[in-house]
Amino acid sequence: MCDDNDKPTTSKETNKNDEENSQEKEYAKDPLEEDTTMEAMRKFFAQKLNLNTAKDEDDCPARKVIEDLTFDGLCEHWKTMGFKNIITMVGAGISTSAGIPDFRSPGSGLYDNLQKYNLPHPSSIFESSYFERNPQPFFALAKELYPGSFNPTPSHYFVRLLHEKGLLLRHYTQNIDTLERVAGIPDEKLVEAHGTFYTNHCIRCNTEYSMEWMKNEIFSDKLPTCTSCKSVVKPDIVFFGENLPDKFYTLPGKDFNKCDLLIIMGTSLEVQPFASLVDRAGQRCLRLLINRTKVGGNDHGGLAYWFFGGPGLMFDSPNNTRDIVYVGDCDDGVWALVQALGWTDELNYLIKTEHERLAKENATQRQQKKKDEQTE
Ligand SMILES: [Zn+2]
Repeated sequence: MCDDNDKPTTSKETNKNDEENSQEKEYAKDPLEEDTTMEAMRKFFAQKLNLNTAKDEDDCPARKVIEDLTFDGLCEHWKTMGFKNIITMVGAGISTSAGIPDFRSPGSGLYDNLQKYNLPHPSSIFESSYFERNPQPFFALAKELYPGSFNPTPSHYFVRLLHEKGLLLRHYTQNIDTLERVAGIPDEKLVEAHGTFYTNHCIRCNTEYSMEWMKNEIFSDKLPTCTSCKSVVKPDIVFFGENLPDKFYTLPGKDFNKCDLLIIMGTSLEVQPFASLVDRAGQRCLRLLINRTKVGGNDHGGLAYWFFGGPGLMFDSPNNTRDIVYVGDCDDGVWALVQALGWTDELNYLIKTEHERLAKENATQRQQKKKDEQTE
């Protein structure tokens, strides 16, 4: 039975169902038996790893959350019924219009520009062990990519607008460019899943250093060195082999149960465990993807599905009950949304005033730096 309360299936109920299934199967020697065992194992790992997924509720007959599962249908529902707890989940696509190169786009991407550093392989630049031996290439690259010279995009300010309207439950980002903070989204609303340039720590004694300090070091071509122990200081971005920030493990369990609209923007949903967050939204939570291509479907075979998996996004499936896609650039999708909601003027005003404020701030900083240099 499937009720309207979206009661999560408890492990007890799940086990009971498995028992019933396996008893039936003993008589029938169903060729699907192997699948059932696999499914039980998948559930076991999902529970062990605290990765409860929507898959357990797949037996529910398909009943659409809203009748019209299109972008217009979603906007209409938003206008008439509203949402209370919106989660935004984003990747590099929301920052590309700011001029920040996408790590993974062939040609324009970061990895393609790494040849000059003579690395053992491109990803070495983000490996802790390599960094400890040879931090120079990382800082040379950091100087090119350093946040601060970029303005947040309309997509960032849309998230800020959601926050101001009291609708933003949380913003989960894969980006390390700090543009969410620059856009004024407060720390408690942010989960920077892959870390951030905003804070920095000594790799040995863990002393914290500010973004300003780090920026000065990087731009004066010094190797950022801890003042107390002389070890190298590293921005808090997550390197390969490092744990994601604590918030990434503690908050989704609370957030995704409450969420009634998940907006996914500018991500290929290929990087785990971030991508698997889409499956943590309850069955009655609408999911809107704004992206250049339709992504997020799960092939039901791969390892990622086993450990992280749920069915993923289901736009083209006959069983789709809640997934909606807008194919296009993030900013275009955001403008279409705010137009439908009657928020265009508000978003325009927010962008205009914030960009003016940032321009003033940057000018003051430049003047101050000039003064400092003259007195030195
Ligand atoms: Zn130190």
